[in-house]
Parts: sequence; C-alpha cells; structure tokens
Amino acid sequence: MSAILRSIPSIDSLLKDPEVVKWLGRYPRTIVLRALRDATKTKRTEVLSGEAQTVTQSSVISAAASLLTARTQFNLRPVINATGIVIHTNLGRAPLCKSAVENATAVASGYSTLEYDIKTGRRGKRYSHIQGILRELTAAEDAFVVNNNAAAVFLCLIALAKGKEVIISRGELVEIGGSFRIPDIMAHTGAILKEVGTTNKTHLYDYERAVTENTAVILKVHRSNFHITGFTEDVGVEALAAFAKKSGTPMMYDLGSGCLADLAPYKIHNEPMVKTIVKSGVDIITFSGDKLLGGPQCGVIAGKGALVEAVRTHPLARMVRVDKFTLAALEATVSEYMDEGRAFENIPALKMLTEDIKEIRKRAIRLAAGIRHQTAGHVEVAWRQDLSFAGGGSLPGHEIPTYVVSLSPTGQTLNALEAKLRGGSLPVIARVKDDTLLLDTRTIFDKEIRAIIEMSKSWCA
Ligand SMILES: *Cc1c(COP(=O)(O)O)cnc(C)c1O
Repeated sequence: MSAILRSIPSIDSLLKDPEVVKWLGRYPRTIVLRALRDATKTKRTEVLSGEAQTVTQSSVISAAASLLTARTQFNLRPVINATGIVIHTNLGRAPLCKSAVENATAVASGYSTLEYDIKTGRRGKRYSHIQGILRELTAAEDAFVVNNNAAAVFLCLIALAKGKEVIISRGELVEIGGSFRIPDIMAHTGAILKEVGTTNKTHLYDYERAVTENTAVILKVHRSNFHITGFTEDVGVEALAAFAKKSGTPMMYDLGSGCLADLAPYKIHNEPMVKTIVKSGVDIITFSGDKLLGGPQCGVIAGKGALVEAVRTHPLARMVRVDKFTLAALEATVSEYMDEGRAFENIPALKMLTEDIKEIRKRAIRLAAGIRHQTAGHVEVAWRQDLSFAGGGSLPGHEIPTYVVSLSPTGQTLNALEAKLRGGSLPVIARVKDDTLLLDTRTIFDKEIRAIIEMSKSWCA
C-alpha cells in the first residue's frame, strides 16, 4: 500500500509535465494547482479504499484535466440542439446569422456610432440605425425596438391605454409561457381589460357593442402556441382594422413571432407576414426579434408615426432600451432580408425551417453511420423519418417532416445514455420519444456532425 501511495506523483513533478505547462499558459496558476492537489487527493483516497492498485502520472493529469475543464468553463455556453425544435426557447431561440455575429463583435469590441451622427459630428439617436430598414421591411410609417416583445406589448399598452379600456376577444387572452399572461400584463399597465366574445367565438358585433368613449385600443393577440378548432369564429384582421378605423380607435396587434419573409412557397401558411398585417390597416404591431425573424432578442414596435412616437417618447421606454450588441446584430440580420433569397440562405432559423429534406436526410445517414461505428454495439443506431416543430411560439401545430437518428442503448438505461449526451464538453440535447433518443438533423449544423460522432465514443456503456 505504502509503495502505491509513494507512486502518486508530487505536485512539483506534475508541474513539469508538458500538459500542465500548457495549462499554466492558459489558466491562473492557483486554479491549476488546486486541480492538481484535488486530483492527487482523490487518487490517494482511491488507493486507501483499495479501489486503485496503481497510480500513474497520466491518470492524475487526466483527472486534473476534468476538474480544470469543469471549473473553468462558463455556465452559459454552447450546446448542440438535436431536438429538431428550431426556435427553442430553453436553448437560446434563434441562432444569429454570420453577419450579425460579425457586426455585433465589431461594434462591441470598440467604440461605435451608437448615439453619434457621423454626418454632423453631433449627438445622434440610438434607434435611428434600424428605423429606415424596419420601415422598408414592414411597410410601416415608423418603427423602433425594445428589449423583447413582452416589453414592447407592455410599453405600448402603458403609453396608449393607461387608465382607459382595451378591448380584446376572450379567445385571445393567452399565456405565452414564463408567466407572460395578457390579463396580468394588462393589469400592470393600468389599462382596463374589456373582454368580448367567448373562448371559441367572437363576432364583429361583440367589438361594436364594446367600444365607448373610454376605449383606447382594440387589441388582437396572435395565438402563438395553440390552435382552437371546431365550432369557432373570430374577426379577421382586415375587418377588425376597418372597424377600428371607422370607430376612431387605434388597433394594436401583438403578432408574437413576426415574419418578415414569405413562407408560403415553403408550404408554411399559418404565419402572417408583418408587411401584410401593416397593409391590412393595423395601427401598431409588436413582434419578437428572436423568433421567426431569426435575430437577437428584442421586440419590434412598428406602425403609424404618431403612435410609435408616443410609445418611443414614453418615460418607461428608457427602461427597456436595447444595447449596442442587439442593435448591431439586428441591423445585420434585417439587412439580409433586403434580398429574400439571401435571408433564407443566411439566417439559420429560416434556413432550418425551409431546408430541403434531402439535405436533412443526408446528414442523418452520415451521423448514424458515424455513431454506429464509434459505439460498436453499445448503442442501437438507426435513422428514419419523423416530425420537427418550429417552437418558440411560432407556427403552432405545424409539423415539418424531418429525419432523425434514433439511439437505443444496450447495457445501460435510456436516462444514463441521455445524461452522457448532455454531460459532454459540448452537450448534445436530444429528443426523447418512447424508448429512444432522437437526434433530429434539421437543427444540427453540418459542422456539428463530426463533433457528435467524435463524442459518441464516450456514450458506450
Ligand atoms: C413570444 C410572444 C410574446 C413574448 O415575446 P418575447 O420576445 O418572448 O418577450 C408576446 N406575445 C406573443 C403573442 C408571443 O408569441
């Protein structure tokens, strides 16, 4: 025993190991020392308990390496989204396009024109950078952005309807998740909720009867995360906008996702384009930057000039203002939309939603073959067709045919295998269905396939 204990390398000799020398160039010395000490201590305990018969220098180094990785990696870090849910709220919603990342990095790493007018050399306006392009893409008179769509809805209601009535159909009193519930939000803005119609049916006459002198806004909310079907009826956007105009009441539409490109050629019909909504006469609309738009987290407010101005100049606007990274990423993302073909090619969320299934199938076949090779009998690997979803409160109920690699463990439980996928240096988040783990190659980037295959070696029982 004492001979084994003596074989545990000293900290001094470990510090001379070429691998450790490399660490010292990368991490603070105290952290490296702590990892080495903790790794040696663990080895000593293993020897004393009879668990280990030999201790090699390389085994101590590898234990220290694991500790070092675990202790130095950031908590917020990248994962591979193999769930097939394109706009996955828990996994950071929309991945940014390349130009957005580059522009955000450039603007963030130095000084910028954030509130500076380069032409006049005077103070400029933070929101001016995206005003023109948003106007063009939405066909609205004016537009600006806040921190997220929840803030956009809140700010609009407080600026336009505080102390007055807001009419909304009972079929649209939705909860978006994460405690964003329209009635609660409304209560906090000081607007008075006036529900009309029923859960399944709301008619134009319901709105007509509800409008009074005290009505500030007629509100429509997109049913982002559910459908109602069967004996249902609601008032179309155009008809409601026409009525709002006739009654002299502004109409607001919380669009939720907000789509700037036409998805109809891809057989996706249940998401209206922002431009279409604006043209149908809605006075003010709000939507997210990181859902179907595929950009950074933010909330866009677009609509009639006077209304947008009232919202922008409200004192609370400052509290939900966006930072320079967001503006830089947003400007680059929306610029891609100036050429729709480019948008579908370059914006990851759009590309994933509309990708040719043959490409998804090719990735699945490649991934399955690679994993099968690496896990040699420890995991049953197959590929097949399945269904993906847009997620993130976009395209509710819209199923998109996809391909998946299915993994069934042999000699370990499904939970154990799932934990291994999740526990790697680059976690792989899979979909669990029945007794298998599914890796949906719709949301797996081409460049991630190799990394997954490489990691799959460690998935064996
Ligand atoms: C998603 C959504 C929101 C909230 O948007 P965030 O960008 O998450 O703040 C509000 N309303 C609707 C209809 C939504 O779909």
